[in-house]
Amino acid sequence: MKKVFFLLLLPLLLYAFKIDNGETVLINLDKNSTVVFEGKKIPTLQNPVNKDKYYVLLPIKYREKPGNYTLLIDGVKKPLHVEQGRYKKEKIRVAKSKVNPNKKALKKIRREYKRAIKIYGTFTSIRYWNKPFILPLHSKITSRYGNARMFNGVLRSFHSGTDFRAKMRTPIVAANDGVVVIAGKRYFAGGSVVINHGQGVYSCYFHLSKILVKVGQKVKRQQLIGLSGKSGRVNGPHLHFGLRLYSYAVNPLQFESQINTLFKGEM
Ligand SMILES: [Zn+2]
Repeated sequence: MKKVFFLLLLPLLLYAFKIDNGETVLINLDKNSTVVFEGKKIPTLQNPVNKDKYYVLLPIKYREKPGNYTLLIDGVKKPLHVEQGRYKKEKIRVAKSKVNPNKKALKKIRREYKRAIKIYGTFTSIRYWNKPFILPLHSKITSRYGNARMFNGVLRSFHSGTDFRAKMRTPIVAANDGVVVIAGKRYFAGGSVVINHGQGVYSCYFHLSKILVKVGQKVKRQQLIGLSGKSGRVNGPHLHFGLRLYSYAVNPLQFESQINTLFKGEM
């Protein structure tokens, strides 16, 4: 029994950080330190509860190769181990036009993609929120983040968010305070709202039947932003909830559980 326990503990002893690809590492810092991962400096952020403390959010790409990496904190090496997340394959049947879009649709898709990538890659230095993140609705999860997706038998992409069961016109609320940066109909995502929470964090709400906010509008945590629907590339009504961190689509629920640890003891 003791031996089994030790074996379970072993990975934790060997690595300072252990994480699945597609997830976010939150590192608490006692001072404003410089954190570097894979040659890139990760923004050091002020703790929202204790102004003398800092933290960094490190997104691990979905397509990051599993293995051993090194994190540099003020030049000190910290081992970080990336595990292959246990993501499933998922088969979905949708309208043909949503798998093989025509020329005109392709143009629209490219335009939307370019615009979204530019938005997700924008780092706003202000933090709009000062409370924990919440879920946009409370419902059963119908498709998890990270599933490899076969649309009509063809592997297209990975699931970049979490799907919640939502019958038509279920109220959807903002996960936290922020500013609306996308509010409109898009080809795959359908009725879409994207909120900029500041400091490289964006939350996404897709397939809506009604949008109740405008681009540029400030929203509060728990504010009604739209009603669920079945617009875009879907096989039925649901809410797709996504989270972008420094442009990467990370697991939104794991992100929320990590960032909310900043409020431990406060909640
Ligand atoms: Zn989805």
